[in-house]
Amino acid sequence: MTAKRDYYEVLGVDRNATPEEIKKAFRRLALKYHPDRNQESGSEERFKEINEAYEVLSDPEKRANYDRFGHGGPSPFGDFGGFGSWGEIFDAFFGGTTTTRVRRTAPQRGDDLRYILELTFEEAVFGCEKDVTIARWESCSRCRGVGSEPDNPPVKCPRCNGSGGVRRTQRSIFGQYVNVTPCDYCRGEGRIIMTPCHQCQGQGKERKPRTIRVQIPAGVDDGSQVRLSGEGDMGILGGGPGNLYITLRVSEHEFWKRQNNNILYDLPVNFAQAALGDEVEVPTVYGKVPLKIPAGTQTGAMFRLKEKGVPHLRGTGRGDQLVRVLVVTPQHLDEEQKKLFQELARSLGKAVTHQEAKGFFERFKSAFGNNP
Ligand SMILES: [Zn+2]
Ligand SMILES: [Zn+2]
Repeated sequence: MTAKRDYYEVLGVDRNATPEEIKKAFRRLALKYHPDRNQESGSEERFKEINEAYEVLSDPEKRANYDRFGHGGPSPFGDFGGFGSWGEIFDAFFGGTTTTRVRRTAPQRGDDLRYILELTFEEAVFGCEKDVTIARWESCSRCRGVGSEPDNPPVKCPRCNGSGGVRRTQRSIFGQYVNVTPCDYCRGEGRIIMTPCHQCQGQGKERKPRTIRVQIPAGVDDGSQVRLSGEGDMGILGGGPGNLYITLRVSEHEFWKRQNNNILYDLPVNFAQAALGDEVEVPTVYGKVPLKIPAGTQTGAMFRLKEKGVPHLRGTGRGDQLVRVLVVTPQHLDEEQKKLFQELARSLGKAVTHQEAKGFFERFKSAFGNNP
């Protein structure tokens, strides 16, 4: 911020200038720098500066103050509120008598509320109905939102006569104008509460626990959001209520894993089953499903159980269950099993050939390639 310029310098007048001279200088400069007439950059700042200087130097009391204390003195603007009202003064200069509208408190929408809801794996797959309890602001049940004791309704504000605004006629050298500001006695509401409602302390609202039944559609996933329109906090002065946003947290399952609409499942098989083939039962969310393991199945081989996955949230159909085979190496062999493996080892000969190993790793890669 640059240092404030001397007011006399701003208006280009002598320190001993008469009120007439000050007025003349101001009028000339104000016309020159008015933003409506002067589009040059910086003219608006200049215009404000000129206005400010004139506000002080045209008032004998403020001018005397300024002569004594300079810019560091007591605020010459008092309850004028600094420069918040410049816009109103702008309008007044060239428009004769104008009225600026009072800024009454506008209707305000209520706040949105958020809630985190835990679901099990199956609840997310099939959808469910849940009761959610939240605390939210609602209209006070005792005063019905009015804010005063029911037998002692609010009275009209005596200062603004119920209009919520206070008119002040101000004069400037370009004419007079009426400035309407929100009434500070009733804060622009136009009414005064004599006896505040003892349930809400005059606020007209109270925080209440509410239990809301929520329908969770089939196919939601961890992080999905459900919006309940109008179930948030109440609005102010006729503004609508906010929304309730429910974020879903889906807990992990012991052996199923979600991958979008597919369900991944690791199927452990032993060496014999992998080598000779077998028919097994695989658990799906729809119950057990038979699966044929062909002879010579390698670890990492993938089998697809069509339509045994998660229903699509939008649209029809379901994902699949993907079954990944894991061949488990036996760890605790008894004597007989050891003997059988030794026989098998003699029969199979030395280590796996390079060709066999290559095929195995390629399958392994494709099985894991799509995982998150
Ligand atoms: Zn109340
Ligand atoms: Zn009032």
